[in-house]
Amino acid sequence: MPKIIELPQHVANLIAAGEVVERPASAVKELLENAVDAGATKITIEIKDGGMTFLRVTDNGCGMSPEDAKTAFLRHATSKLRRAEDLAAIETMGFRGEALAAIASVSRIDLMTRTADALSGVSLHLEAGNITEESEAGCPVGTTILIRDLFFNTPARMKFMKSDTVEGGRVAAAVQLQALAHPEVAFTFFRDGKQILSTPGTGLLKDAVYCVYGRDGGKMIPVESRWEGYTLTGFVSKPTDARPSRNLQTFFVNERPVVSKLLIKALEEAYRNQIMVGKFPACVLHLTLPANAVDVNIHPAKTEVKFLSEKSAFDCVHYGVLGALNKQTDRPQVQFKPQPAPAPAVQQTSFTKPQSPAPQAAKQTDFFRTMTAEEYKNFSTAVQSAPQPKPQAAAATAIKVDSQRKDALKESVLLPGMTKLPPMYTPPKPVAPPPTPEPKADSIPEPEIEQQELPMAAEIPWRMVGELYNTYVIVEQGEDAFLIDKHAAHERILFEKLKANQESISSQILLTPVPVTLNAEAVGELLANTDLLTELGFEIDEFGDHTILARQIPMDLSPEDAKDALESLAADLLSGRREEKSKVRDEMLHTVACKAAIKAGWITSETELLALVKQVMTREDLKYCPHGRPICVSLSKKQLEKQFKR
Ligand code: ADP
Ligand code: MG
Repeated sequence: MPKIIELPQHVANLIAAGEVVERPASAVKELLENAVDAGATKITIEIKDGGMTFLRVTDNGCGMSPEDAKTAFLRHATSKLRRAEDLAAIETMGFRGEALAAIASVSRIDLMTRTADALSGVSLHLEAGNITEESEAGCPVGTTILIRDLFFNTPARMKFMKSDTVEGGRVAAAVQLQALAHPEVAFTFFRDGKQILSTPGTGLLKDAVYCVYGRDGGKMIPVESRWEGYTLTGFVSKPTDARPSRNLQTFFVNERPVVSKLLIKALEEAYRNQIMVGKFPACVLHLTLPANAVDVNIHPAKTEVKFLSEKSAFDCVHYGVLGALNKQTDRPQVQFKPQPAPAPAVQQTSFTKPQSPAPQAAKQTDFFRTMTAEEYKNFSTAVQSAPQPKPQAAAATAIKVDSQRKDALKESVLLPGMTKLPPMYTPPKPVAPPPTPEPKADSIPEPEIEQQELPMAAEIPWRMVGELYNTYVIVEQGEDAFLIDKHAAHERILFEKLKANQESISSQILLTPVPVTLNAEAVGELLANTDLLTELGFEIDEFGDHTILARQIPMDLSPEDAKDALESLAADLLSGRREEKSKVRDEMLHTVACKAAIKAGWITSETELLALVKQVMTREDLKYCPHGRPICVSLSKKQLEKQFKR
């Protein structure tokens, strides 16, 4: 039996190097991350022979003291992590303290570095991880690290290297990735003396994307959305510019490039039914979330991450991209599955399972009749966007409202929570004035008073048809039908109202205070934020035993929902601790709005629905619920005709 020995340090480093430094491109990635962590605003990368013989990175970051420069090459030497607890919330690119040690163990290195407060810097030479020379050096503030002869002492690894062209290409890709991750840094990249890339470091992702992808980058669609403390910004390709591979899908989580099946799926879901099979969208997307909501320490090269809430990450990307794509088309439409081959006509009266070869056709023909609520839900998420009232069509196809509806409109119909809204109906401004008949001498003029009393009655451009599943309101407007999610719509309306209200939200005093039992952390968080809660219309007291008493709650909230709301608010506060107060306030407003809004499945009176529809059809800001889900989807007459093969 061979004796067990502890490996000498340099052998352990070689093994670690295999994990961290696979090839020149992985060394470049680590060096660039170090430069970014050092606060550099300008970074220059130069390589020769694919980076195998010569690889130099120069930055204008904070530099290192001579002492630190030497320590930096020890394994697990880092200035970025002090305690195990820090691992829970990593905000720097590096943290494992392995990269320099690993790279040094398989190469020859020259390092020059100086801090701003030192008159001169230090120069080190290392061979296979050992410092062989050290001297004082006159050099600018920052760090230059030159790596020569990568893998000179590990012939086995050397054999795995591809041609210089391939390795050089990978280095270029690594530089591009960092340039897209850090638009605030100006990157310049030279390959065999030729400048390949240069980004301006303006801090605008748009500029970095343009430098990396050229004109193709300029054609991408901007994405900007927030979701429960998550932020998504970046660019996605138009559905028509899809690619044959996923090569151009780039995701960053807190500025770190990641490979994530979850995020890919979220992106591609948003393109569902818009892109051909076998084609893929391109993207440069930055997902930003609280550092403690993501674990970056699950992969040696830090390219994989684990989300605390996979659903939130998914939703943020999915709905964010969906929203951006929707903004592209001003004629949002329901997307049907690709048309099947012409199929024999299906008997309209038959509800039994249709015979092949036309199951698809049958399903589509029986569209409204056979759809279950579940199918409907899927169907409604496949849609592209909310409608914009069409001013021209409005004038041309004004639909008469019956007298009952007229009355409903005349009355000031208010849902709970809609009490202080500005005038409900702002008639769309017609682009072309509606055709008016030639005035005749003997014609009786329209009484003006009628116009004033009911300003929109004559030109109401839409008609409420009914409601499906107590959830979706159907509205007809000219050649379009709209399906409005009543909960999403009401939630958004309430949210906007709460947000517009700068002062405190009006609240109701409860005759019987509601006891709410939560975990100790949540109770503590709520009690520590009573000011914010007061602004939101809550008054709470400590009751002991992990319980608080809600004495006062927002006017729009029912006492039964108070517990849920407070629980969500505590969660918002806990997850948003590091965020600005205004963001947390927004989250809390979402919560209150969501809890107070009418729910899908509830029975809502026609008058109330009508009031809701009026808002949705006339207000620009009511496109998505505060969580980014669509409020309204459209289905045109043309689309339906196509489905019915007319
Ligand atoms: P990590 O980045 O995980 O901390 P590294 O081995 O990459 O580990 O680097 C070790 C330490 O060396 C860093 O924590 C940092 O203090 C220092 N360092 C490395 N590169 C630079 C640089 N370009 N400028 C300033 N300090 C640097
Ligand atoms: Mg590092």
